[in-house]
Amino acid sequence: MALQRTLSIIKPDATRRNITGAINALIEREGLRIIAQKRLLLTQKHAEKFYAVHAERSFFNDLCSFMCSGPVVVQVLEGVNAVEQYRKVMGATNPANADEGTIRKEFAESIEANSVHGSDSKENAAIEIAFFFSDMEIVG
Ligand code: ATP
Ligand code: MG
Repeated sequence: MALQRTLSIIKPDATRRNITGAINALIEREGLRIIAQKRLLLTQKHAEKFYAVHAERSFFNDLCSFMCSGPVVVQVLEGVNAVEQYRKVMGATNPANADEGTIRKEFAESIEANSVHGSDSKENAAIEIAFFFSDMEIVG
């Protein structure tokens, strides 16, 4: 299978607990390469635009506030089948349902404060990567 790229966000619950490195170690252990990375404080506007697909969901406002509640680390990950591979490494949205050895099983606090985001399709990965990074910032 071909090399693919996906967007990852280490969420504010994880930066607050100083576990960015622990999450990165798990990402790298599972064969994904971090080819771009930066730490940002999202504004409400950024978060609403990024999560626009969830605008109608009951948790939308809480989710956007949470994503702005502290620094995030945005990353581009590269690897074989990276979109699906990273979804596996993250584990289920609700940590109560996440498999052993996944990031969310190991680190997530709740269904909302679930430590990481990962793109859910190749198409969305391209859109989400372009949302945060210019070509010059991605070094594969
Ligand atoms: P992400 O998009 O962050 O990678 P996901 O694809 O596993 O996570 P989505 O269904 O896209 O899950 O939901 C986006 C985010 O919204 C979740 O990661 C979580 O932080 C939050 N969320 C999802 N469902 C709920 C819920 N029922 N209550 C509160 N927050 C939720
Ligand atoms: Mg999602």
